Amino acid sequence: MPRRRTSDRDCSRALWLLGLSAPVTADELTAAYRSRISQAHPDRHAGSAERSEAANTLTRALNDARAVVAEWIGSGREWPIAPAHAANGSSRPAPRRRRPPEPATPAPVCRRTGLRAGDLVRVWPYDGDPRTVSGTIVGPSRYSPAWVVLAEGGEVPADRVRLAAFACPVCGICAGPAVEHPVVRPCPDCLVDLRRLERRAGEATRVRSAIEARAQAGMAAADGLGDDRLAERARDRRGWARRLRSAPPDDLHAALLSAFTNAFDRWAA
Ligand SMILES: [Zn+2]
Repeated sequence: MPRRRTSDRDCSRALWLLGLSAPVTADELTAAYRSRISQAHPDRHAGSAERSEAANTLTRALNDARAVVAEWIGSGREWPIAPAHAANGSSRPAPRRRRPPEPATPAPVCRRTGLRAGDLVRVWPYDGDPRTVSGTIVGPSRYSPAWVVLAEGGEVPADRVRLAAFACPVCGICAGPAVEHPVVRPCPDCLVDLRRLERRAGEATRVRSAIEARAQAGMAAADGLGDDRLAERARDRRGWARRLRSAPPDDLHAALLSAFTNAFDRWAA
């Protein structure tokens, strides 16, 4: 039966779902699929109808992803360029790696959750030790559940994790535990604000106020952690947001967009 030719995008998405980086051999595909599917197996979530349904969705998505990558291997087509490389305008293929997870180069960012492999998170009720994100799994629509896969095993709904040991370069919000090198990355609220600003310049005033409020919260959080560097960063961001109070609307919109864009470029590079 004729069917739509699998696109580069389909392949990239399938690789991402399976936590793989191109090029991929059939053995690597099998190993990645088994590892992912063992965590998503509906039997593991039989106690909860909601989780069991989500696990079924994951299982279907993983089955589809495996089929796409298997077809790609069989076709001998050029592998799609990973988004991080494409964003740099580079046409070089990704370097071949035997073991794709725990990459030296940053993993792709999940557009839905803003998380990527290697991020530290705390899981609800947010009082335990930080866990490491190994990937995310999202359903086909933006209303379907998103799950965060943990390197330590298991997966949790995305709305039940919070970033840990990080600071936001735009708004200065931060979270503990205090570590020597906290991740500097845009926070989830800044991700949302960037999308709003891109759609509507009129959001700039509200976004500026929200950034100032987050900077204030960041200062309090940093003081609570006793981390002077985080406190300094948050104070700097609050000062920046305050200076923009009197900026004309167009300048404000441009300043915010430029701050977000710089932060995202550096983070995704
Ligand atoms: Zn932020």
